[in-house]
Amino acid sequence: MKFSIDELAKNNRGSLGNDVDVTVFRLIRFMDLERYLGKAANNIFYECGKTLGRDLNINSIDELVKFCKVYKICRAEIVSEDPLRIRIYECITCSGLPNVGEPLCYFEGGFIAGCLENILNKRVRAKETHCAGLGNEFCEFEIKIL
Ligand SMILES: [Zn+2]
Repeated sequence: MKFSIDELAKNNRGSLGNDVDVTVFRLIRFMDLERYLGKAANNIFYECGKTLGRDLNINSIDELVKFCKVYKICRAEIVSEDPLRIRIYECITCSGLPNVGEPLCYFEGGFIAGCLENILNKRVRAKETHCAGLGNEFCEFEIKIL
């Protein structure tokens, strides 16, 4: 089942509205998918994020930053242009989580990569180098243009 973003934005939640606590997102995001998918789970999160990023047809980095802010995914900024590095603060997935010795934001990395593929019209890989899961105060993605 696939819905457009306009279809997904419509709801009949008259008294509850559009907002959902970030905890609910995280409960869904951190469901134990590894049990069913094994170690491929993180790659699947990345690929799903990438597909979403491509499907949204975001046409500039400014639009990407704005989208993240409007939907309260995170606050994003470019910290380096060559090589391209994108830092995000207040990440919906990991902000405030403990250091678990590994990065957590595969979905976000894929999302950024998918958006950048449209913007740059090139194949792109985003690797998370900083994350709350690694003990950092922000997430940072190193962008490789393939
Ligand atoms: Zn992160």
